[in-house]
Amino acid sequence: MDDTTGRHFLQIPGPSNVPDEVLRAMSAPTIDHRGPDFSALFGELLRDLRPVFGTAEPVIVYPSSGTGAWEAALVNTLSPGDRVVVFETGHFSTLWGEMAAKIGLDVQVIPGDWRRGADPDRLAEVLAADTGHGIRAVCAVHNETSTGVVSRIKEVREAIDAAGHPALLLVDTISSLGSVDYRHDEWGVDVTVSCSQKGLMLPPGLAFNAVGPKALEASRTARLARSYWDWAPMLEANGRGFTPYTPATNLLYGLREALRLLNAEGLPAVFARHDRYGRAVRAAVRAWGLEVLCADEREYSGVLTGVLVPEHHDADHVRRVILDRYDMSLGAGLGRLAGRVFRIGHLGHTNDLTIAGALAGVQMGLGHAGVKVAGDGLAAALELLDEH
Ligand SMILES: *Cc1c(COP(=O)(O)O)cnc(C)c1O
Repeated sequence: MDDTTGRHFLQIPGPSNVPDEVLRAMSAPTIDHRGPDFSALFGELLRDLRPVFGTAEPVIVYPSSGTGAWEAALVNTLSPGDRVVVFETGHFSTLWGEMAAKIGLDVQVIPGDWRRGADPDRLAEVLAADTGHGIRAVCAVHNETSTGVVSRIKEVREAIDAAGHPALLLVDTISSLGSVDYRHDEWGVDVTVSCSQKGLMLPPGLAFNAVGPKALEASRTARLARSYWDWAPMLEANGRGFTPYTPATNLLYGLREALRLLNAEGLPAVFARHDRYGRAVRAAVRAWGLEVLCADEREYSGVLTGVLVPEHHDADHVRRVILDRYDMSLGAGLGRLAGRVFRIGHLGHTNDLTIAGALAGVQMGLGHAGVKVAGDGLAAALELLDEH
């Protein structure tokens, strides 16, 4: 916008703010993606990405949005008509399930109320009833970006193991990777799906599959049609530091810089920072007398907070007022939450004053939009940030 001064506040839960170092890194000239400089860069990235996923297994990189990585996880491991279980945790898990149905899978949805994460107990019941092992995969979204709820993936895995069920576990970490603790190997995840524009602090355009050994084995017999997403030519070319088709070279320069920033801070510190921002924002929401959408304190998100607006108010009106007056973008309510919820992103390239500024904008915007608040949310958040 050219009628505003200062920086736009991008407080949506992805795409997130891109650090200047990353932007600068991406402005280097594009190089020959079949030459030695590229293979040195890409070989380094394929190695350095693994710890971010908590894996020693290969991570595949696609030039794609996150949606492509969803599809890649499905088409590489499953065959037409295979049954997959999807938890209805919110808009994104619903979309993943719809995609699975479109490409010819038999989708069994575990219903949810969009305020809680994947329920391991319900999964245990579903798997116990599946005595013929018709279910081939369980799909879960780690951080449901439409609601601000983090599913307990470790407990989902434990439910599968306790049932003695052979289903694969496919997990979407699109908005949690690099923001919330995640452990592909330790939690026994078979495919982890992710992408660039959220916790990794990059622009949109890179998508990932971390591939465990059981998923790789399944890919040898999986019969869903695949070409662009096929892991086999990817892994073959990746072994030499190359890709089977043109990679997003400049985004890879950005990725190298983003990984450097994450490692300089240290992943445990990054996760603790996000957790602290989540607590500060929830403190603000409660002091305003509004309701946090996430209904289970074990599942609070350090990435974003979904805020329910009081009845007879329109969350999209609140967002519009805030954008017009304060040049700040907040996340809209998605799907069935449209108009009822706005989402405050607090992920990635963020510090205490970004959070304070965002909450100041929300507090002033609520007032201008006619939403009566109970108290000073910004002060409550500042107090929390000051103490912790
Ligand atoms: C953003 C997001 C997606 C979709 O990613 P695109 O890059 O828009 O295709 C999927 N799942 C989750 C959890 C997300 O946050």
